[in-house]
Amino acid sequence: MSQVGEYCGLCGVIGAEESISALVAEGLFAQQHRGQEASGIATLDKDEEILLHKKNGLVSELMLDLPEEMKSDKILAGIGHVRYGTFGGSSVINAQPILVRMADIPVAIAHNGTISNAGVIRRSLQRKGHIFQTNTDTEIVLHLMSRELEDTDYNIEKCLQLAISKLEGAFCLLLLVPQGMYVVRDSLGFRPLSLGKIAGGGWIIASETIAFPVTDAEYVREVKPGEMLFFPVEDGKTCCEPISTVSGREQVLFSDNSHRNAFCIFEHVYFARPGSYVFGDSVYDVRIEMGRQLAREFPADCDMVIPVPDSGMFAAMGFARELGLPLDMGFTRNHYVGRTFIAPGHATRAAMVMRKLQPIPEAIKGKRVCVVEDSIVRGTTSIARIKALREAGALEVHMRISCPPHKHACYFGIDFPEETSLIANKYSVEEIKEILNLDSLGYLSVDGMLNCMSAHPPEDYCTACFTGDYPVAPPVKGSIRSGRQL
Ligand code: SF4
Repeated sequence: MSQVGEYCGLCGVIGAEESISALVAEGLFAQQHRGQEASGIATLDKDEEILLHKKNGLVSELMLDLPEEMKSDKILAGIGHVRYGTFGGSSVINAQPILVRMADIPVAIAHNGTISNAGVIRRSLQRKGHIFQTNTDTEIVLHLMSRELEDTDYNIEKCLQLAISKLEGAFCLLLLVPQGMYVVRDSLGFRPLSLGKIAGGGWIIASETIAFPVTDAEYVREVKPGEMLFFPVEDGKTCCEPISTVSGREQVLFSDNSHRNAFCIFEHVYFARPGSYVFGDSVYDVRIEMGRQLAREFPADCDMVIPVPDSGMFAAMGFARELGLPLDMGFTRNHYVGRTFIAPGHATRAAMVMRKLQPIPEAIKGKRVCVVEDSIVRGTTSIARIKALREAGALEVHMRISCPPHKHACYFGIDFPEETSLIANKYSVEEIKEILNLDSLGYLSVDGMLNCMSAHPPEDYCTACFTGDYPVAPPVKGSIRSGRQL
């Protein structure tokens, strides 16, 4: 799959013996799949100063010129961010963390998700005279906090609570302040965020648990929807246990008090790495089961199953196992291209799609193949791939998709194209089959997809991009999209 992206991955570390910035970088590196356009790290030192280093590019590039003072043993805590590239502005100014001085108090923030009422809040603040330095939805949190400083007697925690009480949509936040590190997850829990304990001391927070093994950390638990955690620094030392300042949704902190969850099921379909646990389930197990369920719903009369690497791999394995069919690599992947959606602009992206995957004629010639893919967005990528398979000698090309048809936009952190660009928004499955020149096409059903989850009941997941059933009202058109349409 290609053509969609997500806003970002997070990693925060506090109280570790090892170099904190190195641990944050390792955690980010493990989550590089969540964003490749820009990366950044902010660190808090014993002098209560916060230093920031961010740039466009990958984490490996970021670390090439990390300032020496950010590597020192004076560092007590750090937060980091990998950012997905939008199609419009890709200025480093929009990279995160964002660091400001709020009445001379340094505050750094990193965010994963989309604040769906950001546009409305931003316009309101601008009318009151606020000057914004970035195009991101994240920056409004800092402005909302700053407005509360005087009334709260400069209590940063109260400022943060008051700020997030005005937010809607998806937001996992890490904040670094002189007093320590705050961690916030929105009350519907759209995006994943987990807490781990580092061997030898210290804590790590990451969007995905895949960041834990590489930082010698053990999974402790998810940050709960609606929870705010605080990891304090006292007398130049980090405290040993986090303090849950707001836990669960009994409180009135968040604007949404519907007492429901809305875990993004698309994390399991596509975004998260198979080695991660997300919303309590193994991504690997879920993807295998999605493939098995797909095979039960839409078996294929074919000679072999071929995955679209990498994200279609595990569903293809489940599909092939369920039907007792051979699984072979019908495509070879050029690993130096990167994820196709990182290219800004359609023309470049289309070229990269063709460069990224090439069929292997020796594997597919004269065969009836069934391609297993995680999703079809616009359809342009699939058209090119199916054409290439036929030209390479495939006798028949069938396709199975390990999620239901994408018909609707996402307003909660996944950058799907406009609804009208989604092929399933305009055409039936039968029509898509014809457009893609397939011998057969089958999508996993919504119920089938939900039944692959074991940690939570079906009603705990957001499925809005498939069903149109939005857990919170979609924003006014043109009012969101981090970094481009605020
Ligand atoms: S609309 Fe789709 S992609 Fe967006 S949060 Fe819901 S399930 Fe995830």
